[in-house]
Amino acid sequence: QRESTNRARRRSRLVVLAGPTAVGKGTVASYIRDNYPDVLLSVSATTRAPRQGEVDGVHYFFVDDAEFDRMIAEGELLEYATVHNSYRYGTPRSPIEKALAEGSSVLLEIDLQGARQVRARMPEATLVFLLPPTWDELVRRLVGRGTEDAVERARRLDTAQVELAAQDEFDYRVTNTTVGEAAQEVVELIKTRGRGPRRA
Ligand code: 5GP
Repeated sequence: QRESTNRARRRSRLVVLAGPTAVGKGTVASYIRDNYPDVLLSVSATTRAPRQGEVDGVHYFFVDDAEFDRMIAEGELLEYATVHNSYRYGTPRSPIEKALAEGSSVLLEIDLQGARQVRARMPEATLVFLLPPTWDELVRRLVGRGTEDAVERARRLDTAQVELAAQDEFDYRVTNTTVGEAAQEVVELIKTRGRGPRRA
């Protein structure tokens, strides 16, 4: 029994997907959720309001500030951060521990601050940085999605510069040219090579 549990643990991976704003992390993560059902996509808690089409418990657990504070106090979050100076986001710990113990692989789509916390708390996690093909393409994607005004866009592009500078902290880099190909690369890392930190 113990040996089979150990075998399951060895096969299972905790993979963090991070990268600058508008690079398409969310799109790649959703693509993996919809096309690779054996990879479990962690559902974060957030204090922001649902957008149109977002379902509680599927895209996020939508909670208020008091509930988020309670989750922190009870130690229910593996990591948490305030993202883009506005809302709080955090990764519930217990579904991840359960999935890993059962031998499933888990994907976290979180920001850089969260990725660093996971690295510190679970050094066996594999960190993947998603890159835009070029800086101009990143700017095009941010403008193209039209969800931010000019002031917010400028702020996010400043953050993106800082985040891009952190890519060396990651075990792998994947360029998001097309969503399907980037998703496939991430899944291959999860299934074959994603055995933990590659850094010295
Ligand atoms: P959005 O509000 O557009 O869904 O997400 C905004 C940002 O929050 C994205 O950069 C996403 O990676 C980040 N994010 C989502 N969930 C989590 C989480 O659980 N922890 C952290 N640290 N960041 C998260």
